[in-house]
Amino acid sequence: MKPISSWGRLSHEDHQVIPLNDRHQAFNQIRANETQGGIAHGMGRSYGDVGLNPKGALWLTTGLHHLIHFDEHTGRLICESGVLLRDIQRLLIPRGWILPVTPGSQMVTVGGAIANDVHGKNHHLLGSFGDHVQNIKLIRTDGTIIECGPLHNTEWFSATLGGLGLTGVILEAEIQMRPTAGPWLDTESIPYSNLSEFFELADSSEKDWEHTVSWIDCISGKGQGIFMRANPNKELKHAPKMKAEKKMPFVPPISLVNSLTLRPFNFLYRNHQKYKAGTSTVHYEPFFYPLDKLLEWNRMYGPKGFFQYQSVVPRNVGQDATQAMLKEIEKSGEGSFLAVLKTFGNRESLGMLSFPEPGVTLALDFPNHASRTHKLMNRLDAIVKEAKGRIYPAKDARMPRELFEAGYPKLNEFLKYRDAGISSSLSRRLLGS
Ligand SMILES: Cc1cc2nc3c(=O)[nH]c(=O)nc-3n(C[C@H](O)[C@H](O)[C@H](O)COP(=O)(O)OP(=O)(O)OC[C@H]3O[C@@H](n4cnc5c(N)ncnc54)[C@H](O)[C@@H]3O)c2cc1C
Repeated sequence: MKPISSWGRLSHEDHQVIPLNDRHQAFNQIRANETQGGIAHGMGRSYGDVGLNPKGALWLTTGLHHLIHFDEHTGRLICESGVLLRDIQRLLIPRGWILPVTPGSQMVTVGGAIANDVHGKNHHLLGSFGDHVQNIKLIRTDGTIIECGPLHNTEWFSATLGGLGLTGVILEAEIQMRPTAGPWLDTESIPYSNLSEFFELADSSEKDWEHTVSWIDCISGKGQGIFMRANPNKELKHAPKMKAEKKMPFVPPISLVNSLTLRPFNFLYRNHQKYKAGTSTVHYEPFFYPLDKLLEWNRMYGPKGFFQYQSVVPRNVGQDATQAMLKEIEKSGEGSFLAVLKTFGNRESLGMLSFPEPGVTLALDFPNHASRTHKLMNRLDAIVKEAKGRIYPAKDARMPRELFEAGYPKLNEFLKYRDAGISSSLSRRLLGS
């Protein structure tokens, strides 16, 4: 048994860790487990309990890290599920192919990206990760192998995409890569003073800009922030010199994110970004993955860890609901160090439990102050519920079951595809088993 935490570091409970290193032998390892079921675990970059299973088995997939086939002409990549998005990007971008969709960290596995059907900054144009997956090879704990995709076994595909690891263990996937001229992006940063300005910028950018995202100051309650947008640069090709990652060296005894640091941080960030407002050409890594440069930055929240709260609400109520959430945060004094606001495009996800839906998504990090933080998140839940929105399970560690059920209307259909030998903290909390 070994203590394992997820990215939010809210718990450190013992797990029976079973590394999977050979996709042809995976069934023996999955079957060998006789504890309370198991769950696949990639890089543990999910914030809450979706990939945890205390006292039970964790099938660690990072040993399944082989590329199986790449077609230079069509851009079709077949790889094992434990391959990191970082490794795909670094290998294939110099060859003219890029992942169509990536989340804000490239330190995640292909299996994790599929199981959470992750989204990036270009959802309005290219949807979520699953929109580019052509085939999944899944193994069930009874030994059945299922191959599924958008054109074959579609019901299994739809259950497994965003299926939170609960339909089986993904062994391999086939991904359609996208042509790219190189690693550079032309970017623009624009400060905005309120939410109306944010929505104007988001709406007017969707047509001409591939990537859009904004940082929002959620301390002042005014809805001011910095809007960032980018398009691939089609001319510069040379490889840049990469700076080495830095690491948060220790876990401080208390959270470094507290009422003394939040206000100055937000003030400085806003003014620094204003100073930097304008255009520049940057490498894709700092733009797509700004937090990856400080390895283990999650330690700065101290030993009690932190919650991430990410919601999406429909566009027609998006401004009011976001304003109401910012007001609640301001009132609570529990400011968020990292607050990201972005619009999703007008497209339905393919996965039964996929998070993205048309609307506006707000992601917030809160240091764990026990009941104080829970009270604030309960108030945010009420706003999300009234707006008919949903919470992202990849980030969640505490949403009430009725909010999950209300947010995911295809849940009952999904349950038909669950694997009885698979269970996680999240599935027991939200699905009862
Ligand atoms: C800094 C940062 C930024 C982020 N930005 C975004 C973002 O912009 N958009 C977004 O959508 N997400 C974002 N995330 C969340 C992250 O992309 C997802 O949580 C992702 O799923 C993590 O992948 P992982 O390999 O770490 O999987 P884990 O966290 O280890 O597992 C995630 C889920 O996938 C399942 N799983 C993993 N491998 C397999 C497999 N082989 N077969 C079946 N199930 C499997 C697990 O059981 C679990 O349910 C961010 C996370 C961080 C830390």
